[in-house]
Amino acid sequence: MRPLLHPSLVNGRSGDPALYVETLFEKRAILFDLGDISNLSPRKIQRLEHVFVSHTHIDHFIGFDRLLRVLVGREKTIRLYGPTGFIDHVRHKLQGYCWNLVDRYVSDLVFVVTEIASSLATNTARFCLKHAFSAEAVGSSSSIEGVLYSEPTYRVSTAVLEHRTLCLGFAIEEAAHVNVWKNRLAELGLPLGPWLRELKRAVIENRPGNHLIRIGSRPTSPDVRELPLDMLRSVLTVTPGQKVAYVTDAADTPENRSAIIRLAQNADLLFIEAAFAQADKALALERAHLTTAAAGRLAREAQVRRVEPFHFSPRYSGQETRLLDEVMMAFAGQAHEGAGS
Ligand SMILES: [Zn+2]
Ligand SMILES: [Zn+2]
Repeated sequence: MRPLLHPSLVNGRSGDPALYVETLFEKRAILFDLGDISNLSPRKIQRLEHVFVSHTHIDHFIGFDRLLRVLVGREKTIRLYGPTGFIDHVRHKLQGYCWNLVDRYVSDLVFVVTEIASSLATNTARFCLKHAFSAEAVGSSSSIEGVLYSEPTYRVSTAVLEHRTLCLGFAIEEAAHVNVWKNRLAELGLPLGPWLRELKRAVIENRPGNHLIRIGSRPTSPDVRELPLDMLRSVLTVTPGQKVAYVTDAADTPENRSAIIRLAQNADLLFIEAAFAQADKALALERAHLTTAAAGRLAREAQVRRVEPFHFSPRYSGQETRLLDEVMMAFAGQAHEGAGS
């Protein structure tokens, strides 16, 4: 099964953090972090629907201006997520410009901005171009088990980390792929029809075996009957969806380690910061960042299939291979056992 989600680091392993995740077959995308995005074409920026910002240190948020510049004048709603204080940071960015001519725009650009507290309580505000981007309160809520956004194709969840300020880690999980075997349907004498969509949804939503499915070539056809989900499983194959986790700017503390491992557990792909070399462990601790060895060890403990380190500090310019090797050694369990703890 071809994975639906295609992530790529906009600025490689050493540039500003930004991970662009394209949804295959659909012209839409999400972004983790909003560092410099001048490498992203306007076409790619226009596809964005959701932007998840770990925190508003300048290397993670300076790309907001380009996002705004490309989208002004387009009919678009974009959802932004970030830690406590995020709404105010977005407000200040927007209020840095003069919007006296907005009544001349035909289309509206809307930012729906949600900030997440360490308790997972959320607060949402809206900023519309036509209202000169003045903040409009939407409401408060709480994210259940850290899930920030969910739709039939995928869901995004968060973990709140400590970086001397709140910093969010994220994981995107694609829904399971459910395929119907038409020959098996025919063998059971079952028709094709919209009921198969209900069947797939029941599987994805983990309905119990006795959950009844209404079967018919059309919902109103006279041949409609009901069968329990368990009796229909033989016509399906279920492949788990892909999981991609994104973790950056976190101190190597016991609390952060367990939150990261929980968030990234069994991910197919983990993008994780490795800002400092293992030899500079003391510096990493002081700056509340991870070392290469800590990143590799976390990836191993979370049992991810592949690790992609990034956010290498500019002090290691030209030494990408060295840093990468340190991460991969720790990931393989070969280096610095117990180091960084
Ligand atoms: Zn930071
Ligand atoms: Zn950073």
